[in-house]
Amino acid sequence: MNPTEKTLVRLSKSILGKAEAEAVERILCQSGYVGMGEEVDLFERELAEYLGVPRDWVVSTNTGTSALHLAAEAVSGPGDAVLVQSLTYVASFQAIRAAGAEPISCEVHPRTFAIDLNDAEKRFVKNVKAVMPVHYAGSPGDLDGIYAFAKKKGIRVIEDAAHAFGSCYKGRRIGSFGDIVCFSFDGIKNITSGEGGAIVTSDPDVLARVKDARLLGVEKDSGKRFASKRSWDFDVRIQGYRYHMSNVMASIGRVQLKKFELEMAPKRITLAKYYHKKLQGRDDVILLDCDLDATVLHIQVVRIPGGKRNTVREALEAEKIQTGLHYKPNHLLSLFGGGQERLPVTEKLYDEILTLPLHPDLECSNIDRICEIMDKQLVGKCQ
Ligand SMILES: *Cc1c(COP(=O)(O)O)cnc(C)c1O
Repeated sequence: MNPTEKTLVRLSKSILGKAEAEAVERILCQSGYVGMGEEVDLFERELAEYLGVPRDWVVSTNTGTSALHLAAEAVSGPGDAVLVQSLTYVASFQAIRAAGAEPISCEVHPRTFAIDLNDAEKRFVKNVKAVMPVHYAGSPGDLDGIYAFAKKKGIRVIEDAAHAFGSCYKGRRIGSFGDIVCFSFDGIKNITSGEGGAIVTSDPDVLARVKDARLLGVEKDSGKRFASKRSWDFDVRIQGYRYHMSNVMASIGRVQLKKFELEMAPKRITLAKYYHKKLQGRDDVILLDCDLDATVLHIQVVRIPGGKRNTVREALEAEKIQTGLHYKPNHLLSLFGGGQERLPVTEKLYDEILTLPLHPDLECSNIDRICEIMDKQLVGKCQ
């Protein structure tokens, strides 16, 4: 390789290695069963332990989207609506729609990217059954405010905590309290199981429903599978799906969970703090407001106002530094209104947002270079 050739700096990355490979090998070569069995039971137990909740509260799924779908279906259906911020991954919207309900696009706060409750209040209609706050970048925003809003309106809360695994709110881990909380363990999330997700709730009715619904609606099949038994004489009363996790995925997730506390979460926190130290106090780069000690930042998003986002983005890409846009607002997508509804705050943010690389393999020296390139574009040229 040409020594002057720059190596690619990736936007995000799964940090997987020998330990995960050995865990998968153990399932493939020794366990004799790759489907949903003992390993999934252990992963759920360890997730519960990590979160500090009873074992029964954790229900794993094959993706974060299927977790959100099952949660949405447990509390809403055709003819109902769910309030959700437009600035989220399309997974949140598709999950609501898959449940038969209509997602109502809401604005976010421009400094936290959490759902704007004043805007949600304005868009509230009587068939709204739930609000789905998205813990953008891992930060839950004003969660007390969201629960107070839900209580006042008599609606449920489904937390899309796909970004927020490991984050805390007022000293408590996301997922250890609240109504229904959904995580994602897809390839680039804070921990991965290859693909995967989980629903965490204390509501016994929701628990009973989603445990069956992830296994085609076969009643009480989860417990049987964990005991290496099968259901032959069973009943089905609800629509179900093939949404369960497999032993292979769970074995990866278990290793990741161990690494997370010791290595991956501290590294993310260190890198996020370094970004913030380097970029704070400027008005041409705006950082999100979040508590960096309580948040295991999933994505390093900044706002670049004044129409300069694209030039900064191009300059970084030219130096082989990958960037992202989280996200194209859902209300602009054809399936969700195609922009008929105007959300001026969200649309302005969409012009300004830029996601910079963040993953546990990144180094502070990478961040130095990223900030230097940004600085050159912002200060060097435009004054
Ligand atoms: C990743 C993600 C999801 C969905 O999770 P998958 O495991 O990829 O299905 C949902 N919401 C948000 C905000 C996400 O980033």
